[in-house]
Amino acid sequence: MTPTPATSSTNSGEAPESNDQWSASPQMHPDEVHVLIAGLDPVTATAALLLADAGVCLINVTDPGPVTSQDTATGPYPPALEGSPREYALRKLLRNRWPRCVPLSAPELFCSSVIPSAAMLRSASVTGPLPQDLTVVDLAASPDAHLPTITVVTDGSVSLTWPLVPWYRRPCRECIVNAVRDARKVLRDQPPLDPDAVATAHSLALTTLTRVITASGIAVDLLGQSLNPQNTNVQNTWDAESPGTITLRYGLHRSTLTPRADCLCALDG
Ligand SMILES: [Zn+2]
Repeated sequence: MTPTPATSSTNSGEAPESNDQWSASPQMHPDEVHVLIAGLDPVTATAALLLADAGVCLINVTDPGPVTSQDTATGPYPPALEGSPREYALRKLLRNRWPRCVPLSAPELFCSSVIPSAAMLRSASVTGPLPQDLTVVDLAASPDAHLPTITVVTDGSVSLTWPLVPWYRRPCRECIVNAVRDARKVLRDQPPLDPDAVATAHSLALTTLTRVITASGIAVDLLGQSLNPQNTNVQNTWDAESPGTITLRYGLHRSTLTPRADCLCALDG
């Protein structure tokens, strides 16, 4: 195939021939992006602030649980808001940062997947010593079954991020617990050499590093999906043959886990 000359535009008034790389799909504007975030731990709260920095204003956040001392030590919540409901605290942070941002805490009003630029982020946290000590924010009503959804789980200084899948394909509680168990085994059997250049294991610095890197990756993936909903290069629709991988982050360390394929939440049909 002959490459197109680099300089081929003329002054005839015609638009130059578009480059396929940039014309694959009509791009949405950040103002058109709707994001629902269920579970506002430090990782997802940071992702919300990054999305707002990128111009996303229609953010619906839900988590009535209180801001904890751990949240203020390793997350974006200021100590003055400790004890406040996380959803209230995050709405306040978003509005202070971007006055044009109008965050809601009304998941029941969130749009359906008919809106192509809508996506969801859900989180869970291991809040005890065992993988089963998992806290998940439940929604009173399920969102649209086809809403593109990312699941992220934090376990101390470790985060696990599932690939973007329709809501009805989200990992179930048992699959999340199993993945946390697998991650602990991997890190115990083969401790990574590069969790962080300076922090000691389980330090607040390491947890913060994991949070920032994980939240950045999530914000990029959600924007990639929502701004280019027709672009199959970024739309990770469910594929039973290649269901994607779970990303494990521990400071600077990154590796992958394979999702279980035998659970009902992963089986086709
Ligand atoms: Zn499952």
